[in-house]
Amino acid sequence: MQVVIVGAGQAGFQTAASLRQEGFDGRIVLVGDEPHLPYQRPPLSKTYLAGEGGRELVELRPAEFYQDNAIELLTPERIVEIDRTARKVRLESGGLLDYDHLVLALGARNRTLPLPGADLAGVRSLRTLDDADALRAALPSAGRIVVVGGGFIGLEFAVVAGASGAEVTLLEALPRPLARVSSPTVSEFFAEFHRARGVRTVFGAGLDCLVGESGSVTGVRTGEGQEFGADLVVVAVGVLPSVELAEQAGLPTANGILVDERLRTRDPAISAIGDCAAFPTPFAAGQLRLESVQNAVDQARCVAAGLVGRPADYRAVPWFWSDQAEAKLQIAGIITGHDRTVLRGDPATGRFSVFCFDGDRLLGAESVGRAQDHLAVRRLLAAGASLRPDEAGDESFDLKAHAK
Ligand code: FAD
Repeated sequence: MQVVIVGAGQAGFQTAASLRQEGFDGRIVLVGDEPHLPYQRPPLSKTYLAGEGGRELVELRPAEFYQDNAIELLTPERIVEIDRTARKVRLESGGLLDYDHLVLALGARNRTLPLPGADLAGVRSLRTLDDADALRAALPSAGRIVVVGGGFIGLEFAVVAGASGAEVTLLEALPRPLARVSSPTVSEFFAEFHRARGVRTVFGAGLDCLVGESGSVTGVRTGEGQEFGADLVVVAVGVLPSVELAEQAGLPTANGILVDERLRTRDPAISAIGDCAAFPTPFAAGQLRLESVQNAVDQARCVAAGLVGRPADYRAVPWFWSDQAEAKLQIAGIITGHDRTVLRGDPATGRFSVFCFDGDRLLGAESVGRAQDHLAVRRLLAAGASLRPDEAGDESFDLKAHAK
C-alpha cells in the first residue's frame, strides 16, 4: 500500500506521523512545495515574528525524524495534476507517483487586496515562514505600520509590531475586530486591549487604494478619503482554500474540497483534510471549513486511523486559540449562529468567558485567561452534555465537576 500526501504543512505532516504511530508499514511520500522542513504556522505571528527564536521554534520535527520513520519527504516539489483513473500524481519537476490512497492537505493562501497600489513594495502578508522572515527583517526599520484586517492574524501581528516600537494603525472594514468569529463582548475586549497598547484602531473603514512613491508604499487611503502614512502595510484579510488541484481532477468543491464524514472526497481513494477541506460535523449545519491546528491534526489522525483499518466518522470538538501578548483567547465549539450569550467573569479583569447558546443549547464558549472554562466546555461538547444558561453564568456553579 502506498500513501501519497500532498502538502507538507500541519495536516500533511500529522498524517505521515500518525500513520507510522498506527503501525502502517507501507510507503509514505510527503510532498510539499515550500523549501523547508514541515513547520507549524502559529508562532509565525507570535513568538517567531517577535524574534524569540529560530527555526527550532517552528519545525515540527528535525530532518532525522523523516529518515527514522521512512517518510519520503519531497520538498520543494509541487503536485500539478491528479490522474484518478491511473491513480497517479504528476510532479512539477516531471515524473509520476503512484498512489493507493491520496491525501490532499493543500492548506490555503492569503487573499490579496483588489485595489490600486496593492503590489507596491512594502505591502506584505503573513502565511509562510518566508513571509515571517521578511516581516521580521522589515520590522526594525518600519516606523509606521498599517495592518489591514482585524482578524486573528492582523491582531496578533499588531501586538508584535507595536512591541517593536512602531506606530501601528489597524484598519478593519467591519464595525468591530474578529467580527466573523467572535461575540461582540470578545471583539470589544480586544479592541480596547489593542487601543490600550497604543494601536490606533479604525473600524468600519473600507479601503480605496494604497499610495506610494518610487514603487514603495507610503500609505493607505480609505473610501472616505482619510489617509494613513505607512512604511509597511500588512494585509491580513483572510484566506482562500487551495482547491484547484481537486477541481482539475473533477472533485466537487464549495469553499473547500467537499468530503464526507470519513473525510473522503467523492473518490474514496482520495481524502482531503485541514484548511482546504469542507466537512460535515455534528457541531455545525452544512459543510464546515476550519482554519485551526486542532482541525488539521485531528483530521489527519482520523484519516490515518481509517487507512490502518480503524475507520470512524470525524467528530472532534473544534477548538482554537489566539495569543495576543498577555491576552490568551481560547474558543471551544462553533459559535456561529448563537442567539444568546452568557458572561462568566469580568472582562475588566482580563479573565472571562462568553458562553454562546442557540436557545438553550450550548454551542461553545470563548474564554480569555480562563483555561479551566475552555477545557470544561470542550469536555461538555464532546460528551454531548448540556449546560443551562443560568449555570454558565453562575460563578458558584462548579463547571469542572459538571463536565466530568
Ligand atoms: P498548511 O499548514 O497551510 O499546509 C499546506 C501546505 O501544502 C503548504 O505548505 C502549501 O504550500 C502546500 N501545498 C499546497 N498545494 C500544494 C501542491 N500542489 N503540491 C505541494 N504542496 C502544496 N491555528 C490555531 O489553531 N491557532 C493559532 O494560533 C494559529 N495561528 C496561526 C498563525 C498564522 C500566521 C497562520 C498563517 C495560521 C495560524 N493558524 C492557527 C492556522 C493553522 O496554522 C492552520 O489552520 C494550519 O496550518 C492548517 O494546516 P494545513 O496542513 O491544512 O495547511
